[in-house]
This record gives sequence, C-alpha cells and structure tokens, in this order.
Amino acid sequence: MNVRTLVVGQGLAGSLLARRLSTTGSVAVVDPGQSNASLVAAGLMTPLTGRRFRLTSEYPQLFARARVAYTALGVFNPVTVYRMFADAEQRSEGLRRSAELDCAPFIQKVTDIPGQLSQDLTDTQGGVLMHGAWVDLPRFLADTKTWLGERLIKDQLHAHDIADTPTGIRWKNITAERMVWCDGWRAMLPGGLFSNLTWQPAKGESLDITSDAPAKDFVLNREGWALPCGEGRWRTGTNWDWEEQGEQVTEAQRKKLLARFHGYFNHPISSTVTSQAAGTRPCTRDNRPYLGQHASRLRHYILNGLGPRGTVWAPTAIDHLESFLEQGLPVPAELDYRRALLS
Ligand SMILES: Cc1cc2nc3c(=O)[nH]c(=O)nc-3n(C[C@H](O)[C@H](O)[C@H](O)COP(=O)(O)OP(=O)(O)OC[C@H]3O[C@@H](n4cnc5c(N)ncnc54)[C@H](O)[C@@H]3O)c2cc1C
Repeated sequence: MNVRTLVVGQGLAGSLLARRLSTTGSVAVVDPGQSNASLVAAGLMTPLTGRRFRLTSEYPQLFARARVAYTALGVFNPVTVYRMFADAEQRSEGLRRSAELDCAPFIQKVTDIPGQLSQDLTDTQGGVLMHGAWVDLPRFLADTKTWLGERLIKDQLHAHDIADTPTGIRWKNITAERMVWCDGWRAMLPGGLFSNLTWQPAKGESLDITSDAPAKDFVLNREGWALPCGEGRWRTGTNWDWEEQGEQVTEAQRKKLLARFHGYFNHPISSTVTSQAAGTRPCTRDNRPYLGQHASRLRHYILNGLGPRGTVWAPTAIDHLESFLEQGLPVPAELDYRRALLS
C-alpha cells in the first residue's frame, strides 16, 4: 500500500487527523484496536473547570472551532452541565467567577439555594448550570473505523521497525511520505520517537451503569461527572491517578465512582454496573498539545498531548498541524512540542 500519510493511533487525535488529511491526499491508520482514552472519556466540553472555576482565555475560540468540526461529523450534542458546589469556599468562588463578564455566554443559571434546580439532588451549596457540549466519541471512533475500511491496519507499530529512506517511510508492506504519531500516552514509552518530552499521563476510570436514579436532562458535575444516557443508563467518572498508566480497571475505583454517583442524590437509589473502563490521558505540564516535526527524522510528526480536554483542543490543534504540513506555516510556539524537550 502506498499512502501520503500514515497515522499512528485511531483515538480522537488520529481519527480527526486522518479525516482532515484525506481531503488532500491518501491516508492509512495503524492501531491495535484495544481500548484507549478516547473510548473511556465522557467527551464533555465544560467551560468552567477546576476547583477555582476557571474559564481559560482560549476556551471560547477553541469551543467555537470544535462545535463546527464535530457538528460536521454529526457527533456534537449541546448539553447543560450542573456543577454543584462542593463546599462553602467553592460556592463563593463559583458565584464570583460566574458573575464575570467573560463567563456570561456560558452560564444558564446560578443558584446558592439547595434543591432549586432539582429537589432530589444533594446540592447543599447550590451550583452553576453551564452551557457545554457532549461529543459522542464512541460513535465517532466507530464511524471513522468504518470509513477507513481497509485503510485501518490492526497492528502495533514499533519505531525500530520503520525504515526512513530518501523516498519515503517503509513499514511492513506500506510506504508513506510521512508519518504522524497520534499514539496518546504510549508516546512516553522508551524507544518512542517523542518519548524525550515532559509527559504527565493521568489514568482515569469510568463506569456505565443502569440505575433507578431520577432522570435528568443535564449532566451532574461535582468532583466527577454523571452523564445521563437515557432509559436509566448513565456513564459516570472519573479519577486522576498520576502513578499508573494503562487500561487496567480496579475494584477500588469501581466502588468509589459508584458511591460518588449515589451521593449526587438525596435518597437511596440502586444501580448495576454494566461495564467499567480505564484510559490514560496524555497530559502535558502546561495543558496544551504537542505539535511539530521530529528534529532529525524529518518524515515524522507529532499530534499529541490533548490532555484532560481532548475534545476541546483537538480541532484547533489539527488546524495548526494541517497548516504546517500543507502550507509550511509555523506551529504556534505555545503548541510546539520543542518547548517540552527534556534536556
Ligand atoms: C477517564 C477519562 C475521562 C475523560 N474525559 C474527558 C472529557 O470529558 N472531555 C474531554 O475533552 N476529554 C476527556 N478525556 C481526555 C481525552 O480522552 C483525551 O484527551 C483524548 O481522548 C486523547 O486522544 P488521543 O487520540 O491522543 O489518545 P488515545 O485515545 O489514547 O488514542 C491513542 C491511540 O493510539 C494507539 N497506539 C498507541 N501506540 C501505538 C502504536 N505503537 N502503534 C499503533 N497504535 C498505537 C492506541 O492503541 C490508541 O488507540 C478523558 C480521558 C479519560 C481517561
């Protein structure tokens, strides 16, 4: 098979990139087909995040770009997210932040009265109802798999099996002009072309459950989240494990996540876990993606570091990488992976 671009990884990054680059040249993707961060993620875009209810300065632009990209793919769903204040300190911070002018377009309602939004919740400090979005990542990845067909090669690629020649890259029976590494957290593993960067991977787990919890038409958010999926089905998560990586689920998190979900409601509910999954976020120290061309192996590029907000960053990151690849425009310094090279 001869292709212009060989993409490594069929997560969110690799899938979006493959679709974009296919408009100007041939593309193939290699991925072993196991679980990944994109399949485990909630796929939520929420404007005010963290304990301090921060709205990052770039969020409005990133969100606007993402809405266009995911709408075109049929996987963008506007949702409201009810961020319940966890304690009095968070409440005063949340009330202060949500009153600021830049937050206004993203706020639907702010309340410090428990039960005002919904009487069956433990929102003892009130909360903020925000405009956000849910990107249906499992569907997007499945659609992309079908769309790729035979151009999706089910395999694990190792850097030492790749031959760079003056005319192109050779790997097994494939030749390509260039290769883009969208391999998520595994980029940090020894032997990888971009392992010499600062990586801060964070493992997280999520549960799919069925429950008799009262139906909601908004996402619940406090410490973690619970996404109502209709007909008594919910997806709930998550945690941050900075020590472990991989896709191994744990009994401890299963219990924790289930207890947290039950804790959102002010009366007993019963739930059954239908599936549990774990993934590892490819985080970077400054929470910005890594883009660019390898310093010595010039046919190799990186699109990675999407971090905890992959859905928000991916479309804009891909715009920049495409401009770099196709028009030679420089990658913005704040997204250039060389900022994170280990000395
Ligand atoms: C629990 C959890 C919850 C999250 N919630 C959200 C959320 O609500 N909103 C949000 O925006 N983001 C969220 N994220 C973050 C988001 O999931 C990531 O930013 C994003 O999915 C990363 O996509 P990726 O394509 O870079 O990596 P991945 O999805 O991990 O994909 C990388 C792919 O590369 C493949 N690969 C790796 N090495 C090789 C190799 N050598 N050869 C071939 N293939 C290879 C892997 O098998 C994998 O399929 C969450 C993440 C987790 C773990």
